[in-house]
Amino acid sequence: MFRRLSLTIAVIVGVGAVAIALAIRHFGAVAPVVLSGGAALSIVAGGVVWLVGGAYESELGRLIARLSRAGDDGPPAGALRSRFGFVEVADTVEGSVAQLRRRVEDLAGSRRELEVQVRVAEAERQHLEAILNAITDAVIVTDAFNEIAVVNGAAARVLDFDLGAATRSPVDQVVRDPKLVNLIKDAREGDASIRRHVEHAIQDPSGDQAVYNVRLSCVAASQDGPGETAGNAGVVTVLQDVTREKEIAEAKSDFVSNVSHELRTPLSSIRAYIEMLIDGEAQTDEARAEFYNIIQGEANRLARLIDNILNISRIESGVIKVEREHIALPNLAREAVDILMPQANAKGVTLKLESCPLFFQVFADRDMVLQAMLNLVGNAIKYTPEGGRVTVSFEVDQHERTVRFSVMDTGLGVPEEALPHLFDKFYRVADHKGQAKGTGLGLNLVKHVIETVHGGQVGVTSQVGKGSTFNFSLPIAENG
Ligand code: ADP
Repeated sequence: MFRRLSLTIAVIVGVGAVAIALAIRHFGAVAPVVLSGGAALSIVAGGVVWLVGGAYESELGRLIARLSRAGDDGPPAGALRSRFGFVEVADTVEGSVAQLRRRVEDLAGSRRELEVQVRVAEAERQHLEAILNAITDAVIVTDAFNEIAVVNGAAARVLDFDLGAATRSPVDQVVRDPKLVNLIKDAREGDASIRRHVEHAIQDPSGDQAVYNVRLSCVAASQDGPGETAGNAGVVTVLQDVTREKEIAEAKSDFVSNVSHELRTPLSSIRAYIEMLIDGEAQTDEARAEFYNIIQGEANRLARLIDNILNISRIESGVIKVEREHIALPNLAREAVDILMPQANAKGVTLKLESCPLFFQVFADRDMVLQAMLNLVGNAIKYTPEGGRVTVSFEVDQHERTVRFSVMDTGLGVPEEALPHLFDKFYRVADHKGQAKGTGLGLNLVKHVIETVHGGQVGVTSQVGKGSTFNFSLPIAENG
């Protein structure tokens, strides 16, 4: 660029000087020598500027090339000569660029490390959240300011609040249960070493009441902490639903009193009839036969109850001996109906076994299936008022290759909400407790015998005041 500029100036000045000299020579002889000398000087000066400018320009080009590669890993630019102070400029700039480059690399390294840490922390947070949400108990952790620090989905469900908005909100704004909020606040202000256990009832949105075992443990404040607030650093509150356990405990205590009653009643009746026989109170053969029948019926009732209790615990502990054989279910049903007929007659309930033309067999333990049938038919008689009907029938499902035994009654029926619990151990429908004595074991044994032992299925449909149909299905024996 310098070269082109100096050459242009020298040419312009030279051409101008020659033009002036020619003009003066033409128009007068004044100082042509001076002008020609000026022109020559201009050309020489232009030449010097051209030479120096060229050197400067190429050195500047090398400087720019070197600086533009500063910090690159590419091949080195052409060497600078120690002229015009460009070497120092290049060294200083390169030094700064190298320093900046190291700094940028350090920062990039720190950034990568931080990104990894953030990813690890996020994964840990999600893992903890998943663990917390997998816990079926409700968990609420509050901090020193009684704000919610950690909470899980179960807590949101039990206490009916919005999980997303709960964290970092004051506990009394989220939990709309003043008693529970006070328990949490009191625990924070109390002795950190004391773990509190409280039983607390909570009503769910549908109005049902559940009983919770509330455990409150304090997170002790660190000794050297800021200590602005009184009490502990926070409270961990865990609510465990113990409704079912409480029902079972209640049912067990009912069971003890019911079992003793159930055992005593037939026993007393057997003793009374035997005494009457001994005392000669049954004077005719007919009267004696009636007494013997009653004694036999009561003894059977006693044996059934004892069998129910023993078989449930044997099946549950897996020590029951199953003796399978080919049985024709209708024959077994006839036996069950015959055993229970006196009971139905005594109560004024019509008991009927529908005729069953089909002949099919199951491969099952005879005594156990008979016991299941006795329990279902016995219940139907027990929970059907006088004048009602109990009908036993069979159905074959050729597609499923099963046979279904059904007992239909016109009795009390079962409320819909009780249906899912009917086959639970010790469960009794609350409304029936005043109507008939029982232990809550009969249906549980039926389920165990049919489903656990024989791979069949039990079922029930019912309508309060209209009656119930209990059934079980068993696979048809392939060569039966
Ligand atoms: P229980 O000894 O009380 O009869 P079960 O286990 O045989 O015990 O039955 C459980 C409960 O199921 C009974 O307490 C009763 O409330 C209900 N139940 C059973 N069978 C019938 C039925 N046929 N009709 C109405 N309720 C029934």
